[in-house]
Amino acid sequence: MDGLKVVIIGAGIGGLTAAIALSQSGHTVEVYERAQELRPRGAGISLWSNGVKVLNRFGMGKDIAEIGGQMDFMQYLSTSGEVLNHVNLHPLIEEVGQRPYPVARADLQAMLLKKFPGTVNLGYRCLSVEEHGEQVTAQFENGHKATGDLLIAADGVRSSLRQYVLDREVHPTYRDYVNWNGLVAADEALTPANTWTIYVGNHQRASLMPVGGDRLYFFFDVPLPLGTSAPPELIRSELAEHFKGWAEPVQTLIERINPEQTNRLEISDVGPVDRMVRGRVALLGDAAHATCPDLGQGGCQALEDVYMLNHFLLTTNISVEDALKRYEAAREDRTRSIVKKARNRAEVIHGKDPEVTAQWYDQLRQESPSDVTDAIAKTILTGPLQ
Ligand code: FAD
Repeated sequence: MDGLKVVIIGAGIGGLTAAIALSQSGHTVEVYERAQELRPRGAGISLWSNGVKVLNRFGMGKDIAEIGGQMDFMQYLSTSGEVLNHVNLHPLIEEVGQRPYPVARADLQAMLLKKFPGTVNLGYRCLSVEEHGEQVTAQFENGHKATGDLLIAADGVRSSLRQYVLDREVHPTYRDYVNWNGLVAADEALTPANTWTIYVGNHQRASLMPVGGDRLYFFFDVPLPLGTSAPPELIRSELAEHFKGWAEPVQTLIERINPEQTNRLEISDVGPVDRMVRGRVALLGDAAHATCPDLGQGGCQALEDVYMLNHFLLTTNISVEDALKRYEAAREDRTRSIVKKARNRAEVIHGKDPEVTAQWYDQLRQESPSDVTDAIAKTILTGPLQ
């Protein structure tokens, strides 16, 4: 099918990439975003090879390589700085056929906006959708209505359109830990320039990953009850308290963060849900399968969704509804398994069962680097792009 009119709700990674892909396939695309100004939530993101392959497919290979960090190694360290495991990522890159790219989210968003030939309608909060005959209409808070042949609900983890598709409310579930993240200048005192460094211990993590522009994307994770908060002026002291006694680079990182630009998030996920599609409306990305970030796969799954949705709209011609059903069928098992796997990993990392976490620390010491890369390759290669 070509020449469809597509309405996209949400200009995050999923919505913008869908807009680029479907425009390239000859459809007319309108994007509506509730924010008045586009600012990414979060500082950095690691796009693993399955996500990067989707960007390659839609002509963004060079662009992502320009803004991506050079990640050649990853290493796990104990709280005292002892190396538990040091992994060369090149065998993984060779196995899967594409290097991963950690990127600053602002750079990724700017890249996607530049590639989208249309404009994003800002300040349009979608309230509801209605299907009538062969069309679907979105209604916005400001009174505007947008009608198309199909609607993509890429409105994120707190999607308001999910209820329409599922015919029931599904709320995100808190996964019992808080994540702080931001960017700092690259410095060998923090981590070698081409290495993703992760300190683990006490069910917590402190992580540093190279992104483009000589910067590091850092994050900290700590298991905490729901409802804790801290104003920016207290962020450094709460991190200093949680990571007291950890190795020198972790202390240096805490001293160097800019608390005003450090995000503090309670981590939740969604589902897995049993539907992604109703009639001419398709959920895409976090709206359908928000995922604990512990596998680094949430954004990559949104990109895989785009790939498959575009594929079925291009290669089938029975009807829009039929193409969307095929999209749903193609994504169901994959996204279900990633949501569960990421949740399981979050529980192992954050001490849901302290014995299991202790075993994981032992495993990190003992397992061969190829076990680590094989596990990552498996996650990548079980996606739609081999
Ligand atoms: P979003 O990016 O959330 O975009 C949704 C958009 O919809 C927003 O712009 C929102 O304002 C808009 N919107 C919402 N409601 C409406 C409405 N009613 N009307 C109009 N617009 C609306 N993934 C990875 O692949 N690798 C990683 O390393 C990684 N790290 C992560 C680290 C953290 C701490 C977190 C929280 C997530 C991480 N993820 C990672 C997951 C990734 O960020 C998400 O999966 C991805 O951003 C989802 O994109 P999306 O487009 O579906 O949703």
